[in-house]
Amino acid sequence: MTTRRGFLGGMAAAGGVATVAGAAAPVRDPAMIVSTWDFGAAANAAAFAKLKAGGSLIDAVEAGGMVPEADPTNHSVGYGGYPDRDGHVTLDAVIMDDRGGVGAVAALEDTVHAISVARAVMEKTPHTFIVGEGATRFARDQGFPKVDLLTPEAEKAWRDWLKTAQYKPEANIENRRMPRGGALDHDTIGLLARDASGRMAGACTTSGMAFKMRGRVGDSPQVGSGLYVEAGVGGATSTGLGEEVTRIAGTARVVASMRAGLSPQAACEEVVRHIARLRGDAIKGVQVGFLALSPQGEVGAFCLLPGFTYAVTDMAGRTVVKKGASLFAA
Ligand code: ASP
Repeated sequence: MTTRRGFLGGMAAAGGVATVAGAAAPVRDPAMIVSTWDFGAAANAAAFAKLKAGGSLIDAVEAGGMVPEADPTNHSVGYGGYPDRDGHVTLDAVIMDDRGGVGAVAALEDTVHAISVARAVMEKTPHTFIVGEGATRFARDQGFPKVDLLTPEAEKAWRDWLKTAQYKPEANIENRRMPRGGALDHDTIGLLARDASGRMAGACTTSGMAFKMRGRVGDSPQVGSGLYVEAGVGGATSTGLGEEVTRIAGTARVVASMRAGLSPQAACEEVVRHIARLRGDAIKGVQVGFLALSPQGEVGAFCLLPGFTYAVTDMAGRTVVKKGASLFAA
């Protein structure tokens, strides 16, 4: 199934990256913060600034996630996100340290900073995951302001979609061309950060798939699907059509592969190949991308289709946006 172009693309992207997690060889230009998509660059800058100011890794990944959450031009995270098919913007987020500290929310409404509510779940409740009305009520109780997340632009996109879209509760119904640049609009932000001692944390925040069923939750807020971080092993995050990640607990699999000795790059490639093998024609035209970081600063990224980008910030604060190699050429 893999075309030669896709295969060579993968090799090119993997070149120059140290290969074995925990290997003695030093990693060239080790990464400190990585995040999904090109808009991750601004998120990384906020996370890096937080670390430089003495903040914790959790402070850093939260600050990073807050950047696209507050950006009304980003239609798949936070304020300005596209609504579900009934016109409600609902947010999903998770935050995680490397020692099992986890907080998550799903189907959160009327609150810009889902990642901060997720952090409050981790730090202020005995729970790891609060959803729906309970999550929104918890946000109010914690003093997060009530904000209508549906911007005029997002409302217009939804109303345009309503004119033509037939809702069908089938796999891949979300796999349509979105208004922004005709690109497939899968743009969750997942961030992974490490410090000089190799401790790690991660965050993932999204408004989910545009025009989804009310109550639908994707991969992003689920530990082991949208995000997984483990001390001494590394972390992984995902983006794309969440159902394809959730059904195989994708990031838990990436981190398990790293625990078994695969590099972050090899681990991301393994999970994408697994999805392709498992799902065959069902994932035709579907995008799923994984990003991984080791405690030593090695980075891995791989996706099904071309178009997945990610931002890498090194220990000196220099950021580069890279293209993820893909399994298929198109
Ligand atoms: N993974 C997200 C979801 O399925 C979508 C995205 O990455 O944009 O909710």
